[in-house]
Amino acid sequence: MSFNDIKGNKNVMERMSRVIKSRNISHAYLLEGDCTIDKIGLAESFAKAILCENISEGDSCECCASCRKISHGNHEDIIYIKAEGNSIKDESIEELQSRIRNKPYAGDRTVVILQDADTMTLRAQNRLLKTLEEPAPGTVMILLAENMESLTETIRSRCTTYKLNPFEVPDCESTMNGAIQISDMLIEGAAFYKISKKLVEFTPDRPAARGFLDAFESLYRDLVISEYDIERCLLFNAEGFEEIRKRRRLYSVGSLEKAVVAIEEARNDLNRNLNINYTMKNMILKIIA
Ligand SMILES: [Zn+2]
Repeated sequence: MSFNDIKGNKNVMERMSRVIKSRNISHAYLLEGDCTIDKIGLAESFAKAILCENISEGDSCECCASCRKISHGNHEDIIYIKAEGNSIKDESIEELQSRIRNKPYAGDRTVVILQDADTMTLRAQNRLLKTLEEPAPGTVMILLAENMESLTETIRSRCTTYKLNPFEVPDCESTMNGAIQISDMLIEGAAFYKISKKLVEFTPDRPAARGFLDAFESLYRDLVISEYDIERCLLFNAEGFEEIRKRRRLYSVGSLEKAVVAIEEARNDLNRNLNINYTMKNMILKIIA
């Protein structure tokens, strides 16, 4: 599995990808996210990219010896630790420490995937802290936690932290549903804060926000076009023609054009790397102005 195969959390993967490209890999990462997120899949993709022999694209190549071994679950330089019973015990960390004292077998790095890190006993955490303070050369630790507040402040401060978002990038259909829901709220005159709150669900990260804007713009463009495109050949969403015709009477031509301009400006803002929430709220303000 490479980054490309993972849904959601594209912003985190973009950051990981930059780390790989720059080879500026730190010795410890902490990934926090709830149980609905495939944290192990994400950690393995990261580990794969770190150990890959062809890293120019910032993702694993899926064809070098290292990638193939990881896909088959038999790479010597990935160590998995997880809770036994309800917690990760001191002995597990002790065993880990003696393993990473050895050099990596295949390449120049060892990656440790520490699942359930937030279940470490205090003794285990204190022991792990020594490793984080004096990292073994070439060792990269990836800690996975549902709640990083269960880890001591000293552990947290020594890790690069990524917070994972439970939302997935919506597929096409749900993106269009999102666009319709927001346009309904606009027509009903819903409060600005309610619309903004709803929008956050559909725009958890930049790719999702772009997808949303595409759907949103196609909806408004169709509303304009439906006036004269009887053959339906110019419509983006031809199958929803009747629905669009029904909605058309709710808008003035001026308001539709204003929306299309606001959406295009929002797309430019996203491309200029402006904050997603800010961009979306700004767009809504322009539409309702
Ligand atoms: Zn590879």
